[in-house]
Amino acid sequence: MDIVWVASEMAPFSKTGGLADVAGALPKALAGRGHRVLAVSPMYKDVPEAVDTGIKVIVHLFGHDHLVRYFAVDRDGVRWVLVAHSSFRREGIYGDSKGAYGDNLFRYALLSRAALEAARFVPGLDGQWLGDDVVFHANDWHTGLLPVYLHALYRPAGVLRRARVVLGLHNLGHQGTTHAEEFGGLDLAGRWWGHLDFHGYLNPLKAGVVTSDALVAVSPTYAKQIMHDQGFGLESVLRARRTDLIGIPNGIGPEWDPANDTHLPAHFDVDHLEGKKACKAALQRELGLPVRDVPMFSMISRLDYQKGVDLVQSITPWLLSNDVQLVMLGSGSKEYEAFFRRAEQRWPRQARGWVGFNEALAHRIEAAADVFLMPSRFEPCGLNQLYSMRYGTLPVVHGTGGLVDTVTNASPGRDDATGWVFRPHEVDAFQQAVGWALLTLTRYPAAWAKMQRNAMLRDSSWDRSAALYEAVYGNVLARPV
Ligand code: ADP
Repeated sequence: MDIVWVASEMAPFSKTGGLADVAGALPKALAGRGHRVLAVSPMYKDVPEAVDTGIKVIVHLFGHDHLVRYFAVDRDGVRWVLVAHSSFRREGIYGDSKGAYGDNLFRYALLSRAALEAARFVPGLDGQWLGDDVVFHANDWHTGLLPVYLHALYRPAGVLRRARVVLGLHNLGHQGTTHAEEFGGLDLAGRWWGHLDFHGYLNPLKAGVVTSDALVAVSPTYAKQIMHDQGFGLESVLRARRTDLIGIPNGIGPEWDPANDTHLPAHFDVDHLEGKKACKAALQRELGLPVRDVPMFSMISRLDYQKGVDLVQSITPWLLSNDVQLVMLGSGSKEYEAFFRRAEQRWPRQARGWVGFNEALAHRIEAAADVFLMPSRFEPCGLNQLYSMRYGTLPVVHGTGGLVDTVTNASPGRDDATGWVFRPHEVDAFQQAVGWALLTLTRYPAAWAKMQRNAMLRDSSWDRSAALYEAVYGNVLARPV
């Protein structure tokens, strides 16, 4: 199959969260299964290894012609296509300290158009042009307009007539909603407004939901929840498409493997755990914590209300009244960043809160810690619980979305548990689950070792998920246009 995978962020070229990890990994897994893949994302900054393809297109939007250039990195069987335009060259990806950029609708409409044009003008890594039966995999609100443009501008002109669009749903909490007046800039005939209109506002995600051929949420539980009560208003729109909506959990890439992770001072695997202890001691030295064999709790997160950082904050005095350490990494809300700083001041020998985005430190924390805290209010799939399990760091998670689908709760009589799943989303329930984790770690070493083994052996490979995506693409291609 010929697949054009399009996302607003794509690791390692750009990243604010899990979408980038998926966008950096799934195209590789698909290429590994024999498909021709272009993976398209904006070029937010210089990428030294990117080669200028010399291919340029002009896209008309918001009353002007915009020249778009394509750079390419050929790696891992995928042609990573970086879309160059001055509007992507900014301090942040979606915004800066003053908030979201005011022209994001323009920037991502431009990306959507550039991706459609890429299928026409950018050959695959093998030098061959993409065929007529191309599948676009758009993601989230940013590329929600891609199928609209396909239907409105391309098919009627006899271009990309047999192309199909699958829309990935990673987070319904962001829909790109903006004022209806902006519709005028999108270069779409007035009859398309109905697809974009949601209660009088322009909603690119809704447009993608109603015009794509199939919808894939990033876990089976999240697929159900967004039709029920977690669709941020789009529940009934999604229900109307229930037969075209499924959930496929994310996998994790080869860079998250404790046996080979280049960020780690020592390596380990399920049968050789000594390296994990060395990673803990090294992290304690790095962060200026006492170097001791003491239970280490951890959290790595965007500091957003979604992530339930408030629950971690609430249990911290209790947690640190035990002989444990707590290491946190994150950036986002000022309120939670202040909590990190206060925790360090109040418990200098037990707590560290590293404010900022630090990929290498994220790996070292996953390797060093014993328990990972993930009390997300909602979690479409979640990646950190997968990384944690792979690194033998048992997760305590709220029973929502992909966390339910991926973490097996420790309950009496089970021998396949990989962590603790708590409900409801309240401090008491969270504290109780964290208490169980601490008790198991300190008093029941055999039970701990069994859970750790289960967690490390869990198959979170992308290949498994890629096979499911392949079936979705095959399915939409089999339908008449
Ligand atoms: P989301 O996409 O909602 O942020 P996920 O769990 O799906 O949540 O993915 C989060 C990704 O971002 C993980 O790879 C995680 O390690 C990474 N991450 C989040 N915050 C930081 C940070 N401050 N530094 C480094 N990596 C981070």
